Amino acid sequence: MSSQQRADRGGNGRADAARKRKLQDKEIIIMDGGIGTEILRRGVNWASHQIQDDPGLVRSIHADYIATGADVITTNTFQLSRRSFRNHFNDRQHMEAIGALALEEQADELIRDAVGLARQAREASGREEVSIAGSMTTLEWCFRPDLTPETEAMQEEYRQQVQLFRDAGADLILFETFNRVAEARIALQAAAELKIPAWMGFVSDAEGRLLSGETMRDVAAGLKGLTVEVVLINCCPVDHTTRGMEELARHWPGPTGAFAHVGKFYPPVWHFTDECPPERYLKEARRWKELGAAVIGGCCGTTPPYIDLLNSDLR
Ligand SMILES: [Zn+2]
Repeated sequence: MSSQQRADRGGNGRADAARKRKLQDKEIIIMDGGIGTEILRRGVNWASHQIQDDPGLVRSIHADYIATGADVITTNTFQLSRRSFRNHFNDRQHMEAIGALALEEQADELIRDAVGLARQAREASGREEVSIAGSMTTLEWCFRPDLTPETEAMQEEYRQQVQLFRDAGADLILFETFNRVAEARIALQAAAELKIPAWMGFVSDAEGRLLSGETMRDVAAGLKGLTVEVVLINCCPVDHTTRGMEELARHWPGPTGAFAHVGKFYPPVWHFTDECPPERYLKEARRWKELGAAVIGGCCGTTPPYIDLLNSDLR
């Protein structure tokens, strides 16, 4: 797709070109850090994503990450989907009975608004070369590979949701915190059909395997031949991330990346701990770079100072 066509549907040709050049020239790409957890840290509950209640807060977090030098910022849309709203109810009839039918449309609207906030922050920064990654995780809960839906339902839902991000003007889709190869394949196929670049992030366990038990060799075999710009390890502690990167580097021939989390997940909130301050995170990130990472950023619990340090040290 030409950059003119991309611009017509809202995407930004300059961001695409900048990202692709860096990948080609093997220059490190710095991503942003946590968004949902950063909203929490700034004292607001994350349940409603704050996209409509406090758009200024979300925009200012994007702006802070852009100011630290991030090349890619991610939308505040983790677990924001029609299905996650539907899952609060027994079935459609129950949902209708308590008058919440508009929630499905609300999910669509919130996704469009979230991409809009990221675009506004980019525009205000004057850094048109920053890419906006539409963040999507697994359709069911990201840490539960046993809940992966049926193939046909996944195909339909990924197409619907990827199209929303694409039409709203995301430059790429960041599929993150995936737990199983089969779902990753369906997600990537949807992005390829809709002609939007895609990154694929998996959670690694302490042995460098997915939560499904699949190995990075399985990942490489399963994604072979599909269109994927970068394969990443994300949303696990730094040591699990390093282990995952070691395995990924052995099996995946294309660009790789990593963004780990910092702190502890206490559903439904995040506990910020000081066990992995920015300097320690950087030490681990240097290791990811040695392992060939083309993209490095931060997941849950990381903040602008983490990204600032990565930006000044890893380039
Ligand atoms: Zn995370």
